[in-house]
Amino acid sequence: MNQRPVGLQEWYLRVNRTYLFKNYHRTVEAIHTHFVEVVGGLSLIASGKRKPGVVPEKYLPKALAWWFALCGKVGIRNVEDMIWAKFPYVCPYCLEKPHHDGKCKSVGRAAQLDWERLKAVGAKDRGLKPTTLGDWQKMFYEIYPKTERNRHENFSRLAEEIGELSEAVRTLAVTPVYFVAEATDAFAWLMGMINQYEFDNAHQNNKDLDAAGLGKWIQDALWAEYPGRCGECATSVCTCPPVLTSTLGRIAREIPRGILPTPEGPLLSLEEALDVFNFGDPEIRLGDERYVVDADLLQHLKAGADASKAALERLAGTEGLAVQAATAIGLMQEQLARQQITQEVVEAVRDRLDQLPGPAKQFVLSTLASAIPQAVALFFQRQ
Ligand SMILES: [Zn+2]
Ligand SMILES: [Zn+2]
Repeated sequence: MNQRPVGLQEWYLRVNRTYLFKNYHRTVEAIHTHFVEVVGGLSLIASGKRKPGVVPEKYLPKALAWWFALCGKVGIRNVEDMIWAKFPYVCPYCLEKPHHDGKCKSVGRAAQLDWERLKAVGAKDRGLKPTTLGDWQKMFYEIYPKTERNRHENFSRLAEEIGELSEAVRTLAVTPVYFVAEATDAFAWLMGMINQYEFDNAHQNNKDLDAAGLGKWIQDALWAEYPGRCGECATSVCTCPPVLTSTLGRIAREIPRGILPTPEGPLLSLEEALDVFNFGDPEIRLGDERYVVDADLLQHLKAGADASKAALERLAGTEGLAVQAATAIGLMQEQLARQQITQEVVEAVRDRLDQLPGPAKQFVLSTLASAIPQAVALFFQRQ
């Protein structure tokens, strides 16, 4: 059952179930770099700057998911225990809730943390330990309430923590425990960013922050991005290529192609790399129309392929022709899962569907007609 996770630990396991296989051959550093890349996108929230086609709010659930992926790759057993060890409903430095700025500065962040004391607080107050992701966010709001002035401070604190986390990643082999402490701080300031985002939203709408309602937004946003399967390839265990074709396409638009010299050398040029990673066709013909292969078209084709395959599987007594058609569609689905499609595979599917006996074909086509847009349906139906 694909139910939405509730607890923070449950979320952590779920996101890793989708991506841990994919991440098996990635290094900790590579995953950390991706995490840093997404955190960089959070600066748009702090600065209020807008970029066309970029939705800053999406970086919050993404950053959280990459934090899960990083902790998963390192092998953290339980993220809730890890966070509670440092933040047992108090600021670990001043041991207050809400944290006391003056006191915190006087004990000094340079001073060593009193881990024994934190452990005692955590044991005494274990009844307060949050479970849901939203409750963890609320806990951080209660420890570090937000005001208008916090907006930039938040992001600079997060950036500082990401720097320290980078050091922990670099020295992971010798000081794994350092990673545990720094990953926790990064989480705390990610929660801070989400709290600030909700505070600013309420403020901009001339409302007071509904502190009791905190936590709901991120749970919805995370589920929208990570609904128990990969948002790109739509499988519960991600099968995406190492670099998404869409990412390469975006990069290709951002760099000055044709201006930088690309001398013959041992390294691939961007054009060559695009070629290597993308063996799909840039354009395909469906019926009499030509279509640019973009995310939309791929999605429609995927819906069409899924619906036809399901219809074929429901046919009584799977005769040879139905099996052959299902196999051809299976190949198409494999390509689509990599966000690619070739004319060759498209033709093969159409030929196989065309060869089906009348009633079987009728059944598949009527299933399709209700599943996908007209243009794509026409392709599957064309005689
Ligand atoms: Zn404090
Ligand atoms: Zn995927």
